[in-house]
Amino acid sequence: MRGKKERSGEEITNNKLYTPFFLIPCVFLWGIPSQFCFFASSKNLNVKTATAMIHNFNAGPSVLPKEVFEQASQAVIDFNNTGLSILEIGHRTTSFEPIMSEARTLVKELMSLDDDHEALFLHGGATTQFMQVPMNLLNENELAAYTDTGTWAVKAIKEAKLFGHVEIAGSSKETNYTTIPKELTVSPTASYLHITTNETIAGTQWKDLPYDCGVPLVADMSSDILSRVLDYNRFDIIYAGAQKNMGAAGVNLVVVNKNVLGKVTRVLPTILDYRNHIKEGSMLNTPPVFAVYVAMLTLRWLKNLGGVAAIEKINNAKAELFYSTLDSLPIFKGIVAKEDRSYMNAVFVMDDPSLEKEFLDLCKQEGMVGVKGHRSVGGFRVSMYNALKYESIVALTDLMKEFTERKG
Ligand code: PLP
Repeated sequence: MRGKKERSGEEITNNKLYTPFFLIPCVFLWGIPSQFCFFASSKNLNVKTATAMIHNFNAGPSVLPKEVFEQASQAVIDFNNTGLSILEIGHRTTSFEPIMSEARTLVKELMSLDDDHEALFLHGGATTQFMQVPMNLLNENELAAYTDTGTWAVKAIKEAKLFGHVEIAGSSKETNYTTIPKELTVSPTASYLHITTNETIAGTQWKDLPYDCGVPLVADMSSDILSRVLDYNRFDIIYAGAQKNMGAAGVNLVVVNKNVLGKVTRVLPTILDYRNHIKEGSMLNTPPVFAVYVAMLTLRWLKNLGGVAAIEKINNAKAELFYSTLDSLPIFKGIVAKEDRSYMNAVFVMDDPSLEKEFLDLCKQEGMVGVKGHRSVGGFRVSMYNALKYESIVALTDLMKEFTERKG
């Protein structure tokens, strides 16, 4: 059978066996930089070994668990011993239907969702939800409340205005988006309140969620979904692109409380009406099969790790180590208000900006990628998503300390 012959489990095992033999000379040759050992042996290593040597701080698409890569790559070669690649199986088959079903069930389980809430895997990224949410929830002559906490909220607000009226319930624009608004003013007649739980670019995160806002609550959780324990049932719509905490780019998780649907008077295009997706079990049309599979594997990984409570502990440890180091080093400076700092994306600068390039070059040299800040903010941004290992934060903070000593 094609898949089995072309890349068998035996071959992968053989690769693993070769690895130590290529590394042995490197271990004994004093003074040869580790990067050289890596390149000298990389031809003989499988991709898995190479990626393990990189600390991936990318903001998204971003780091994923190694076992997810291994299983996903095996499925591309031969999915579940079918002899077919996951890329060539039909979605309405006994091969794929259980994947979609497990992915949806895992979301409900990991978030402890009640029966009113449905989990959907849709196309179009979080950006599509900027318009799909108001299209489904906001009548033309009605009002939706939005919080303005930065780039992503601004984009969501722009789309909502295409469908109805928008009021700004709270904004951190005046602090250049370095804070989260503490006081909200939400009209009781608003169709919903929209928040961005984690601002990926500004590096802020809501710690006190506005559960008691008095109207349906909608959240863009693209960059902190499943990273911490929240009362997920208190949200009426949650959406998130998968490419940060949940898998590969190409699929969007949308959690919907069925009770908020069916209240708009406009005629909805079939593909944009959440109710049709719910009715069809998230298979209204061809889903992004591979992206859903990777999301399911990532959700399984999270469940095996102990679920959201377990990952929250790890995420807290990473963020606390990072921020305590940042605060202890005089040449680095956090730019976000301490109580609003994101535990997913840390944004910081240097007192002397002329040193920033040197530090970035050093990071690159040490295999740390994605440390450069977003083009609109500058400085640095370190993303610490679920799959980022604690060791990566240890390595980065050690480098920051070393650099400070050298410059101090
Ligand atoms: N919302 C937030 C908070 C994001 O960080 C991003 C992307 O990084 C988006 C929305 C847009 O997501 P997508 O590219 O999947 O449309």
